Amino acid sequence: MPVSSVEESERFRNRVRAWLEANLPPTLRAHPRRVSEAMVDGAEIPDDVKTWRARFGATGWGVPAWPKRFGGGGLSPDEIGVLNEEMARIDARNPIGGLGVMMFGPTLLEFGNEEQLQQHIPPIARNEIRWCQGFSEPGAGSDLASLRMAAEDCGDHFLVTGQKIWTTGAQFADWCFCLVRTKNSPKKHDGISFLLVDMRSPGVEVRPIRLISGESQFCETFFTEVMVPKANLVGPLNGGWAIAKRLLQHERQAASGGASPLGAPSTLRLSDLARETVGVDSDGRLTDPDLRRRLTEHLMDARAFELTRARGEAERRSNSDPSTISSILKNAGSRVSQLRAELTLEVLGHQGLGWSGEAFAASELASVRTWLLGKSGSIAGGSHEVQNNIIAKRILGLPDPAGSS
Ligand SMILES: Cc1cc2nc3c(=O)[nH]c(=O)nc-3n(C[C@H](O)[C@H](O)[C@H](O)COP(=O)(O)OP(=O)(O)OC[C@H]3O[C@@H](n4cnc5c(N)ncnc54)[C@H](O)[C@@H]3O)c2cc1C
Repeated sequence: MPVSSVEESERFRNRVRAWLEANLPPTLRAHPRRVSEAMVDGAEIPDDVKTWRARFGATGWGVPAWPKRFGGGGLSPDEIGVLNEEMARIDARNPIGGLGVMMFGPTLLEFGNEEQLQQHIPPIARNEIRWCQGFSEPGAGSDLASLRMAAEDCGDHFLVTGQKIWTTGAQFADWCFCLVRTKNSPKKHDGISFLLVDMRSPGVEVRPIRLISGESQFCETFFTEVMVPKANLVGPLNGGWAIAKRLLQHERQAASGGASPLGAPSTLRLSDLARETVGVDSDGRLTDPDLRRRLTEHLMDARAFELTRARGEAERRSNSDPSTISSILKNAGSRVSQLRAELTLEVLGHQGLGWSGEAFAASELASVRTWLLGKSGSIAGGSHEVQNNIIAKRILGLPDPAGSS
């Protein structure tokens, strides 16, 4: 129901407010971060977050723009604005997230058939099913179309054999959306299909990769003669490249903070932290003029980024397409986050150098890990250089020196 008048908007606001009052567990109102912490792959989910997830998931408001008949909220852009305002007012966090919400769901809504939508969209809207992304291979990262994992046509099913790498959350995932080669063609983009693989199928093996941060965020994933029903093919056979490109746009948009459950870069706490640790002069300014200048520049960049991201998000909502500026946002967002992490460590001084031990607060230890993990922002979802190529060609219309299309 679109909000067509101020009156209707206020009615909707009252409904949302009353619902939140009645349904947000008081423990999460007191400690909102618990919701975001439970979104991390492998995290234990406390009972209050489980309750909140089930209640919120049942409303469809976790994916507010998705159609109601598939478990989404079916809300208009105005209603979504009201919902966001009311949630922000009491710091209620959206407990529905993951790759299904950020990139697979919107792509399936565009390219999937009725059966696929009925099967996969409602569990994503309720956060019941985890998805992982099987795109990259050892020989196919930036040059994704070189992928070799093969799906052999066996009548009513495909037989899938090959390897994926950097598969985020594969060890926790129920399903994987994969790119597979279904034809060897001189034009390598033409022989790629988009296939959905049940991770419990015989022949799927997942090996977590240990990172410098000490965690295993992603995996090597091996597929050995995995039987996949033909019904799991999304879009036309050999027509997966267009679907992959659209999914990558959603991924970049999400990577910039637009749809991420962990939210966009926020610099508010950094300036408070700097005041506390570095100290202020009689005018209330940071005593270190060099740090003051760099911090101010960063805050201005972060603010400009937030505004541009909000514009991109509004554009996406009104077109229901990912914005064409997703490559710019992806690069800018990861730079802002990386600089914030660097400044945080600098401001913390020696306390920003701890890896473990009682001498360091949990937030200090987390800052080091955030700084390390932040490096991956320049690579995940397509490297900085590759995004710059896209910006140059597709957005600025600059000629390609290599002469390719
Ligand atoms: C944290 C993280 C999570 C990830 N999660 C997933 C996932 O869930 N699923 C998945 O499928 N993949 C995932 N990836 C993989 C990611 O998509 C690839 O790492 C990325 O596309 C780069 O590919 P590559 O690692 O093979 O590097 P390469 O393509 O080998 O690139 C190496 C270097 O060469 C540069 N380069 C390459 N081509 C060009 C060019 N044409 N012009 C200029 N420079 C170029 C790159 O910028 C880069 O610096 C993840 C990666 C990270 C870091």
